[in-house]
Amino acid sequence: MGGVFDPIHCGHLFTAEEARVEFKLDKVIFVPCRQPAHKRENDISAPEDRYLMTVLATSNNQFFEVSKVELNRPGLSYSIDTVKEFLKKYNHRVKIFFITGADAFLEVDSWYKSEELIKLCQFVAATRPGYDLNKLDEKFKKIIKIMEIPALSISSTDIRRRVREGKNIKYLLPQEVEEYIYKKGLYRKM
Ligand code: NAP
Repeated sequence: MGGVFDPIHCGHLFTAEEARVEFKLDKVIFVPCRQPAHKRENDISAPEDRYLMTVLATSNNQFFEVSKVELNRPGLSYSIDTVKEFLKKYNHRVKIFFITGADAFLEVDSWYKSEELIKLCQFVAATRPGYDLNKLDEKFKKIIKIMEIPALSISSTDIRRRVREGKNIKYLLPQEVEEYIYKKGLYRKM
């Protein structure tokens, strides 16, 4: 499961659990990206903060893991490098489901080596109900599995805005993550 996770929230966690059950996955590995290929480094929180929040949020689910594979790899985070690393780790004896938000897949055509990536894993796009699926390219609509997740009306952008405006974020994300945000003073000025 790829994402920036700035911060991780209940929508991401519900998506992961739903995908695990629906696709009978052995586990879900959360992979916070170091620097997404399409964002500036200073637009997002420090990799270590995003990693720690992801660990805090997932620690009570025995099927969830967090990987530092992208955080440890210098430069831009390309999904193809990550998928290849996992295939190598598991001796190519696994089927990989690449789960992320549907909006992220809108530009998949422009991702680094996207044609090769498509052949290496099954894409799973998580959307909120009412999302206009026509936004997805016809070519990809046929091969991407779509999951409608009501909890995805929660968004990291909205949580960051709420913190900045001094509004409540309780229950939108795990308590441990909420406490971490306040302890480290994240999102006050973003
Ligand atoms: P994004 O533009 O930050 O997010 C797009 C939308 O998807 C947002 O609404 C976001 O909501 C949601 N989303 C993101 N991750 C999600 C998840 N795991 N579950 C459910 N919803 C999710 O996209 P991004 O996070 O930067 O990229 C997503 C993944 O695609 C990452 O793994 C990234 O490395 C990969 N990617 C790869 C390439 C490439 O290889 N060239 C290029 C672009 C993206 P929230 O803000 O609430 O999360």
